Amino acid sequence: MKPDEILLWLKETGEARLEELWARADAVRAREVGPAVHLRGLIEIGNHCVRQCLYCGINACAPGVTRYRMTGPEILDCASEAHRLGYGSVVIQAGEDPGFSRTFIEGLVRTIKATTPLAVTLSLGERRDDELRCWKDAGADRYLLRFETSDPELYTRIHPSLPGTLSDRFAQLDRMRAMGYEIGTGVMVGIPGQTWETLARDIDAFRRFDMDMIGVGPFLPSPRTPLGGPEAAGFMAPADRQVPNDELTTLKAVALTRLVCPQANIPSTTALATLNTRTGRELGLSRGANVVMPNVTPPAYRVLYEIYPGKACIHETAQMCQGCMEGRIRSLGRILGKGPGGRGSHLESVSESCPAAPELP
Ligand code: SAM
Repeated sequence: MKPDEILLWLKETGEARLEELWARADAVRAREVGPAVHLRGLIEIGNHCVRQCLYCGINACAPGVTRYRMTGPEILDCASEAHRLGYGSVVIQAGEDPGFSRTFIEGLVRTIKATTPLAVTLSLGERRDDELRCWKDAGADRYLLRFETSDPELYTRIHPSLPGTLSDRFAQLDRMRAMGYEIGTGVMVGIPGQTWETLARDIDAFRRFDMDMIGVGPFLPSPRTPLGGPEAAGFMAPADRQVPNDELTTLKAVALTRLVCPQANIPSTTALATLNTRTGRELGLSRGANVVMPNVTPPAYRVLYEIYPGKACIHETAQMCQGCMEGRIRSLGRILGKGPGGRGSHLESVSESCPAAPELP
């Protein structure tokens, strides 16, 4: 599909045509990655951040944020809980925080890999190559780094570089792929300044870079940030060109992402579930997505990882999340994925229910 066609679909409003889009995305999902929905346990290990991203509620300048860093044992407890719940992988995410040193993360990865069969995904922002290589050598499987927007000018405005460096997330994604990581990326839908053409090019970039994992969620304004207050007006594209940060546009972007990247792992995001707490997750899963990331961060920390307000599932324990997710997945006639769920895992067997996980040593 060419960017022009992506653009037409993004602007489509006809109900019958949209039904066709949903059906095509679901058929491609079924054919290319099968019925399994993979669960990744998300561990938000800290909310310190050196960046000043204009959209993010935990950016370095955001007022009123109580900062935390989880300890090694706390993080390992969360990983073992994810394993106990039958998940095949964990995502270790944080603000961009040099306080999480190369050796600290290396130790975490080595321990998780030595004591569980979990796949480990890291999402720690822009880090040095020696760190990324060290974590790969320690056993990390995947790295998530959203490029946020493919428009370089918009990117520079909303994601300022650190002094003396030039932020280039595409280049880091390339380098990580060469190191052997499965790479994940994504964008926010409806970020101020994002035009329809930009979003079409973002989706085309997923295809061109053959991304392994792609997260597409709505931009949700945080009042702690410049883009969540009156300043946002100055960033908006003209009304007829600005992409809205709504559910329908996000679902179109998810469906189109599936069509251009048939074999990618695509989550039904928490941000989408936040816009529509009742059926957001299910709509994402039935319109192209095949992954969900239940939060296994202890609730006391989870509330502090407030990148935007009103985040779905903020107070539930990992156990509660698990029951709820299983029910939602089964209600769609889908099945729980088994094992690490990497790219190409549809070729492995799938399980009807969560397997009883062996005890950790
Ligand atoms: N520090 C790492 C990084 O920058 O990649 C990982 C953490 S960062 C908080 C994870 C993602 O949250 C970002 O890539 C961004 O797309 C998303 N995000 C941040 N603020 C958001 C907002 N206001 N609405 C929706 N998504 C947001």
